[in-house]
Amino acid sequence: MRDSLLKGLICDKRVRVYLCKTTDLCEVARFKHDLWPTSAAALGRVLSVGTVLGGMIKNTNEKVTIQINGNGSIGTIMAEAYPNGRVKGFVGDPHLLLIDNNTHKLAVGKIVGTDGYLRVIKDLGLKSDFVGTVKLVSGEIGEDFAYYFTVSEQIPTAVSVGVLVNDDGSIKSAGALIIQMMPEATEADITYCEEIIKNLAPISELIDKSPDLNDLLMTIFGDVDILEQIDLKFECDCSKERMAEALATINKAELLEMIAEDHGCEIVCQYCSKKYNFSEEELIRLVNEKKENVDVENS
Ligand code: ZN
Repeated sequence: MRDSLLKGLICDKRVRVYLCKTTDLCEVARFKHDLWPTSAAALGRVLSVGTVLGGMIKNTNEKVTIQINGNGSIGTIMAEAYPNGRVKGFVGDPHLLLIDNNTHKLAVGKIVGTDGYLRVIKDLGLKSDFVGTVKLVSGEIGEDFAYYFTVSEQIPTAVSVGVLVNDDGSIKSAGALIIQMMPEATEADITYCEEIIKNLAPISELIDKSPDLNDLLMTIFGDVDILEQIDLKFECDCSKERMAEALATINKAELLEMIAEDHGCEIVCQYCSKKYNFSEEELIRLVNEKKENVDVENS
């Protein structure tokens, strides 16, 4: 089964459910960024919830950016998600392997930390973007997003997200289940969903055993109105032109130094680790274009 996101309704359309399988895109992220297991699990969890946030967007020209920093060893985790199922992201330190002594599981909460925030920025193509920031609860990502949805978006939400890593470091399975109470939801609906969540095995294990999302959703909830299915993938939209635009913002003295000392430069895209090389001639052209810009401004 390809990576995808299923959207559905349960409890007579009073409760929304989102289920995504993100195994392949987490493996692409691991490969591109050379992520070690605990870093891979942390980014994989954020990317997985990110695809759901992207799937909640209604207009195709919008996007959502997620920033997490809990002052832990992993540093900042960033992700961007789009309504067409595209997602990309990176972490400050890709080379972390930390296992919890008690649970023997990857210690995501410990490397993320809790002394910081989770921020969601919805770029709505308007001047007034939506920005929601909450304090981190546990750094385990799932609980933190549940708190974000409940407090910042005022939608009572349960989040189960997980990434299973093979012994060789590759991704075995990954995904997320998000349950949201709509305003019409009854006390009975809430109790029903709480019971299901309480007895639910970790979502990455469920996806590993049942990679067909339709089957899995039916197994969990019995009866679901499926609304939409979106294919998901890790994809970056960087290009040499964009990198040149970024280079052009560097001051002229620094560019001249790159030309004199290194006779060119290499820029690495943070989101996908792709390398872009600029030759001495290309840098000289950038400097010359800068000069023209200054002249125009001064005239
Ligand atoms: Zn890129």
